Amino acid sequence: MDAVWATPGDVIGLHVGEPSFPTDDHVLEGARRALDRRQTRYVPNAGIPELRRALAAKVGRVNGITADDDQIIVTVGGTEALFNSLALVVKPGDEVLIPDPGWPNFAMMVILLQGIPIRYQLTQDTNFQPDHLALEALVSDHSVAIIVNSPSNPLGTVMTQKAAADVLEVAHRHDLWIISDECYDEITFDIPQLSIATAIGSEDRVITCFSMSKTYAMTGLRVGYSVLPAAVADQAAKLQEPLIACVSAPAQWAALAALEGDQHGVVERRDIYRSRRDRAAALLGNLGVRFLRPDGAFYLWVDVTDRASDDVDAWALNLLHDRAVAVAPGTTFGPSGQGWCRVSLATDTDLLLEGCRRLASYGH
Ligand code: PLP
Repeated sequence: MDAVWATPGDVIGLHVGEPSFPTDDHVLEGARRALDRRQTRYVPNAGIPELRRALAAKVGRVNGITADDDQIIVTVGGTEALFNSLALVVKPGDEVLIPDPGWPNFAMMVILLQGIPIRYQLTQDTNFQPDHLALEALVSDHSVAIIVNSPSNPLGTVMTQKAAADVLEVAHRHDLWIISDECYDEITFDIPQLSIATAIGSEDRVITCFSMSKTYAMTGLRVGYSVLPAAVADQAAKLQEPLIACVSAPAQWAALAALEGDQHGVVERRDIYRSRRDRAAALLGNLGVRFLRPDGAFYLWVDVTDRASDDVDAWALNLLHDRAVAVAPGTTFGPSGQGWCRVSLATDTDLLLEGCRRLASYGH
């Protein structure tokens, strides 16, 4: 991001995961109404009851997760849902298994809590799905949790039933928590999202983290939520006091308006991401570039091994410098990302296609 900001002239930015769409008017109106009613005071740590109720209904309807209102904690985006969950289960010295490649913040959060991130690889051999043998080999006496992320950033993979069962089995055998990041749950294209919390035997060990950011194109309003086993939900709510006290009240009313309002925008944006995926995939395929076809989220994981030799960071900086296209080098997401880069589909379609053309013709 810094390199892009420091680059003069127009840059085609395919590096960030931020929806290119404006927030729907009825969502803004929700915040405006709250401000007009002067709802600017502290609210409960776990969130306003109206929103918790609406979220419990949403996870039932969309994700198939049965949860009472008091199992829902409203958070500052999916980011804080994850941090709250990790803070709940990680003590200094504890190990947390995280995906590689995976969202870089997982490792940062574990380190911040003085835990130790242990990366499990997602490779082509297992279709980039978590593999129980790989997980099993990494579990130690210090392991406390496994983070899974579906749909995945950066891979765009959606977890299969078999992978979910494998992860759950390993978690059961070693008495581990599963923290499931499902921030892109409503952005899937061909196969539906599978929430690991719907599996039998998951009830007391899965914490699911969601976000309003991507589904409702409201990244800056900062609302997310987690769904916790009943036994720990109260503790998670109490943890909000030292972490954030509470989520901004007007933002929570905006989130409620998003859930209760017209859902056409959610479908429309998903269709646009799908069409961008298809057009970028067709273009890259024709130009001989290999990539992983995403089933969800809004990223293309592109294989640039033959272009980037063994330094994809340098290659991405050169691409920015020479062709004014910014992509995220794969190593941002862990060592397994060497030779790959992430292209975001959250950018305007014409710019995305032009960026892909420039990428395909670069560094051969
Ligand atoms: N999880 C993943 C995998 C993400 O990619 C992101 C944002 O990019 C988040 C969580 C958190 O997003 P937010 O805090 O805006 O909800």
